[in-house]
Amino acid sequence: MKRLSKEDLTQMNRDYFQSLDKQKLVEVAGNLHKLAVEQLEKLEQNSSNSSLPPSSDQFKSKEKLAVQSEQQTEHSESETKSKQEEKQVSPISEKLKSKGFGKKLPGKQKGAKGIWRTTPLVASEIVSHHPETCASCNSPLEIDSDAKPHMGYYVLELENLDSGIEVKCRLHHYYQATCACGHHTKEKPLFGYVSVVEGRSKDLCLQEYGLVGPMLATFIASLAVRYRMSRPKIRELLNDWVGVSLCVGTIDRCIREVGIACSPVVEELIEELQSAEIIHLDETPWYEKGQYRWLWVAITSTIAVYHIGSRRKEELLRLISQAFVGWLVTDGYGAYINYPKRQHCLAHLIRKAIALTEAVDKEVADLGQWLLEELRELIHELATGDGDKDETDSNPARLYRVCRLATVGEHTKLKALANEILNDWDAVVACFYNPQLPPTNNEAERALRHAVIARRISYGTRTAEGSLAYCSILSVIETCRLRKVDPWAYIAMILTQARRGIKHPPIPIAS
Ligand SMILES: [Zn+2]
Repeated sequence: MKRLSKEDLTQMNRDYFQSLDKQKLVEVAGNLHKLAVEQLEKLEQNSSNSSLPPSSDQFKSKEKLAVQSEQQTEHSESETKSKQEEKQVSPISEKLKSKGFGKKLPGKQKGAKGIWRTTPLVASEIVSHHPETCASCNSPLEIDSDAKPHMGYYVLELENLDSGIEVKCRLHHYYQATCACGHHTKEKPLFGYVSVVEGRSKDLCLQEYGLVGPMLATFIASLAVRYRMSRPKIRELLNDWVGVSLCVGTIDRCIREVGIACSPVVEELIEELQSAEIIHLDETPWYEKGQYRWLWVAITSTIAVYHIGSRRKEELLRLISQAFVGWLVTDGYGAYINYPKRQHCLAHLIRKAIALTEAVDKEVADLGQWLLEELRELIHELATGDGDKDETDSNPARLYRVCRLATVGEHTKLKALANEILNDWDAVVACFYNPQLPPTNNEAERALRHAVIARRISYGTRTAEGSLAYCSILSVIETCRLRKVDPWAYIAMILTQARRGIKHPPIPIAS
């Protein structure tokens, strides 16, 4: 027997059931039961009882659904929003705990045998650092050719040659000199910002003294953030292809250092953001050591800023301050609703309308189709500029009418969509009256795409410092790309400066 189709279901309703005699009713109920069982079984499929991949499990696990509903009450403002992302929320913390994570700290365990370099590094070049002036009386100092260095260290640095990249090893020697005034001046490597994290045994200091040069550190950060590689994979790649052997800890330190060097640049970008004319805003779930967080993005034509935090309105003020007077392009999420100059993303509404056109109930499907056509025409009119300007029969007027019609119906999803449009009416049609406004929030969604994939590979970040590093690096990379500036040369430069305690230059503005 064939399975009941959508057309079959459309014809069935209460009146039809009542018209049937008992024997027929049993037959119909049997068919409906069969369909229900089939669908239920499909719902309960996961990687352990079918050929579905394990990655699909997070959408279906029951305990996850329970936590999801908890989160939905917690973020009650988010009710207006029904994007795919919300369904992916999973209680990673619970899962990690049950697997024994969280008890064990990352890195080398107590009593484990350490790993160290077995063959010493060989320098291809020696770089000498002599003091130029006396630290006490400022007189110029002469280089003493017989002097012995008081300290030295190796630096591995990535060089961009015409024929490709190469990693060079240099030995840096630091010398002491004695002035005529009798003062001994020692030349020392410089140092910059110190990042303090409570509970960490050693603070992270940005300094010249270190094995990895700025360009190699930038390369490592690019592999991690831009190419989404794990620390162990980066270690493998450097060892197998570049002939550089670094431990995972050093690799992690490089990424953090780059993040710390980038974060003051991002502070400036946020300030610049406040004078923008149009900002696209969006957010997606993020995990920080299994805790549920949100990754926000604010993007204009020349600035991209990412931020990891909660989903509250106050968090938004980190990105968009009171000083901002331009337009926001957003989806229907509640945190944005009080901002007056706003465009509600039409693509979101169109996707919801498309879902309605596939509804079983024909009346609902027809109304959904009408809504969809009106929304599409609104965008089409914006693109071509040949819509009806007549007040009573303009695109917005027709859209308004179909929404009012839809609110009267019984169908919850149709009513919800119509109410979403009507409750945020000014923001939905803002682009109709302000042609400079983009009708969709595609810019922000595209800007989040990279991070969404990264989240699914790595399950987010582990610490607040790691989150800050990730956001800062991503912000600088994306801003450089928007301005058509080489992000890697810029980041290597600001890291060099940060290790010397010198303030960074701003990212050049696109010409
Ligand atoms: Zn002196």
